[in-house]
Amino acid sequence: MATQEEVFKKLVSHCKEYGFVFPSSEIYDGLGAVYDYGQNGVELKNNIKRYWWMAMTRLHENIVGIDASIFMHPTTWKASGHVDAFNDPLIDNRDSKKRYRADVLIEDEMAKYDAKIEKEVEKARKRFGDAFDEQKFRETSPRVKENLDKKEALHARYAKAMNDNDLAELKQIILDYEIVDPVSGTKNWTDVRQFNLMFSTEMGSTADGAMKIYLRPETAQGIFVNYLNVQKTGRMKLPFGIAQIGKAFRNEIVARQFVFRMREFEQMEMQFFIKPGTELDWFAKWKQTRIKWHRALGLGDQKYRFHDHDKLAHYANAATDIEFEMPFGFKEVEGIHSRTNFDLSQHAKYSGKKIEYFDPETNESYTPYVIETSIGVDRMFLSVMCAAYNEEQLENGESRVVLNLPPALAPVKVCVMPLVKKDGLPEKAREIMNELKFDFNVQYDEKDSIGKRYRRQDAIGTPFCVTVDHDTLNDNCVTVRDRDTMKQERISIDKLHALINDKVSINNLLRKVAND
Ligand code: ATP
Repeated sequence: MATQEEVFKKLVSHCKEYGFVFPSSEIYDGLGAVYDYGQNGVELKNNIKRYWWMAMTRLHENIVGIDASIFMHPTTWKASGHVDAFNDPLIDNRDSKKRYRADVLIEDEMAKYDAKIEKEVEKARKRFGDAFDEQKFRETSPRVKENLDKKEALHARYAKAMNDNDLAELKQIILDYEIVDPVSGTKNWTDVRQFNLMFSTEMGSTADGAMKIYLRPETAQGIFVNYLNVQKTGRMKLPFGIAQIGKAFRNEIVARQFVFRMREFEQMEMQFFIKPGTELDWFAKWKQTRIKWHRALGLGDQKYRFHDHDKLAHYANAATDIEFEMPFGFKEVEGIHSRTNFDLSQHAKYSGKKIEYFDPETNESYTPYVIETSIGVDRMFLSVMCAAYNEEQLENGESRVVLNLPPALAPVKVCVMPLVKKDGLPEKAREIMNELKFDFNVQYDEKDSIGKRYRRQDAIGTPFCVTVDHDTLNDNCVTVRDRDTMKQERISIDKLHALINDKVSINNLLRKVAND
């Protein structure tokens, strides 16, 4: 059995080999934590974005979209707190010269206690066999309790240090717990320092006194500064939301794990404006709405969990992450935050404009509260790929690599193949393709054996292959092969469109999200 790390490595090379993700400017040896999406990657990514956009703006009549610029007036970032506080605590190891996030080193240490507990549980499961009562074991085992207590103790100390912004204490924790650099294996650490994650550049010529501006580190502020524009021109009534998809930039200290942590990435964010006092209800509702969106993809409900935040940002009064089980553990894919009226109030203060809502029901004006849902497109892409990637042993002794992608997200929906390159079969295959191409992303392939062509499509996750043979010219039927079951079925060409559509339509996913 391959370890999870090996599987992940294979996935990364698969992404490159099959045109999903390439290192940026690779001919110059790449650029750290920056990636380009290839011909298949961009299709998958676009499908994810479309699924999100439709779920937000079509399924909710009170949510509309915008597309704000990446550049914003620099005062935006003063008001939002990013200039002063968008920092990560960094620490260097003097031997390896590697840089780490101090908070991540400590969180990894905490995760070790969880791993120890799971090991105990697995050992006991083997020992007791069918009679094993997992819940009882977790509640009563002294070894489990000991690890839980140790984790709690570390957690309490860490949470306090983060909340107090106490960098010396973060270092002390690292020393006390004898956390070593995974590369050098030593404890030769520098002090912990704060590092601002925003990229800056200059606008205008330097002769005129150029203005320092930032590449946005989140898309949300583009929504906040347009709150009044959208509310007024759209005659929006509370509660209502504004959705946006766009690039964001962060000078991440430790950029590893492929597209999980990039310096240029894409976010899908929605700010939902509500009446103060209703935020906890809306927070709970959005948690449910969002988890349903994830689960509808069918990647496996057990792969998701909520992780509630202990360290709330100063403006937030509730926050949770939706985590997905990647080969390197459960990791944040989406954040849901109750942000109070912090952002709108700050922009009102810094701009001198009144940013309020007049409530016709109560005849009063107030600054709306906000629930935010914020998901990274690239992390979503990665979670879908991790869940989809499978190496299968087949009954005939062969093996195949298949991406069991949710059909609605698959880059190519169908590949049309003439059995041979002659006798009018290519013409017939192209005729079928020309009918289907208006609704689906279709490929045509006439090279190599049918078996090889199937493998190529399996590797990019194409749900259907359609083979045109000599009989097709007489009976107008084709052989349809299913990616997951590998079963073949002969059907009439007239029925092809409906068969494909039923499986790959994003609308079916949306119906699930809307009706369940
Ligand atoms: P992390 O703790 O992993 O750095 P975060 O809590 O800072 O993430 P948010 O500021 O809540 O992340 O951003 C919202 C979403 O944007 C995240 O859930 C994630 O999907 C995505 N995201 C954030 N940073 C990155 C990054 N460097 N690369 C890719 N996606 C990112």
